[in-house]
Amino acid sequence: MTEPLLSIRDLRTVFHTDEGLVRAVDGVSFDVGRGETVCLVGESGSGKTVTGESITRLIRTPPGEIAGGEIVFDGRDLTTLDEDELRELRGDRIAHVFQNPQGALNPVYTVGWQIVEAIQLHQDVTRAEARERGIDLLDRVGIPEATRRFDDYPHEFSGGMKQRVALAMALATNPDLLIADEPTTALDVTIQNQILGLLSELQAEFDMSILLITHDLGVVAEVADRVVVMYAGKVMERGGVFDVFERPSHPYTRALLDCLPGRGTGGARSIGGKLPSATDPPDGCRFHPRCEHAVDACRAGEQPPVYPVDGDDDHVVSCVHYEPGGDPSVVRGEEAVPTDGGRPVEGDTEEDDR
Ligand code: SF4
Repeated sequence: MTEPLLSIRDLRTVFHTDEGLVRAVDGVSFDVGRGETVCLVGESGSGKTVTGESITRLIRTPPGEIAGGEIVFDGRDLTTLDEDELRELRGDRIAHVFQNPQGALNPVYTVGWQIVEAIQLHQDVTRAEARERGIDLLDRVGIPEATRRFDDYPHEFSGGMKQRVALAMALATNPDLLIADEPTTALDVTIQNQILGLLSELQAEFDMSILLITHDLGVVAEVADRVVVMYAGKVMERGGVFDVFERPSHPYTRALLDCLPGRGTGGARSIGGKLPSATDPPDGCRFHPRCEHAVDACRAGEQPPVYPVDGDDDHVVSCVHYEPGGDPSVVRGEEAVPTDGGRPVEGDTEEDDR
């Protein structure tokens, strides 16, 4: 990959809570290349939303705090920018779309007024030019009769249409990077497919990079170039989408994939057990209480570093069985081994994704 547009290294974002320090993002590293789509995946509570919000410091401080690491965007470390510099960047070169479009739209103003404001905030164009571009964008995101609908209020649009409007607002300034956090989760499958198709089209047209945050591996398979699998604030596996789907190498990735319809258990179950305590995660590999391949080395010290899979530095996995001299076949299921403690527990895995 040429010089990445976004390069995140050892990002650490914490929250100071009454219950203790929450290390929501704990040493996360990955790149997003120009024009590519990178998907951050994992269960709710894995830290993927906080990672996306950390990039332009949307984290509320306090209680949140970026405690370490680098976020280099087009050669500049965003962690060193002041609030004015960040405000210029947000909505201009880096745009966000969230699961709930309601948050992006002000109910008091027409959608057209809001799009024109967004454009004029970042570009030196007349109101008429901004309006023309806004109508064109509404049309491009699939709003029928865009000229007429331009002057409607948000409550006059359905949920799917609101999400399209939010997307149009995010794209209004031709961002270099779109951070889309579960943008289709609340929508039915047909609308979801339309929005995803639209994102791909617009990405090609605007040569935009996309960081897509999702728990849905079906979505990942459709749109990703590369995948970052997160668990309890850590990166478990990272690689090209083909490699991760064809050669899933971390037990957590394999468990996620097994829950997909048509694979493994055929989507019949969720992963056994639940995410560890946010304030008191286990020593060693954070996945070890749920891992059927856990050995003593998994339960002490720090999260294992990432190791290349089959010598491929672009496909890496945080698991002791991949360290030099280890035996990855244990994890890949090529050889059955007795477990010595990983005890899957049935339970709820849905927690607030903070
Ligand atoms: S084998 Fe150990 S290091 Fe690998 S995923 Fe399981 S618990 Fe983590």
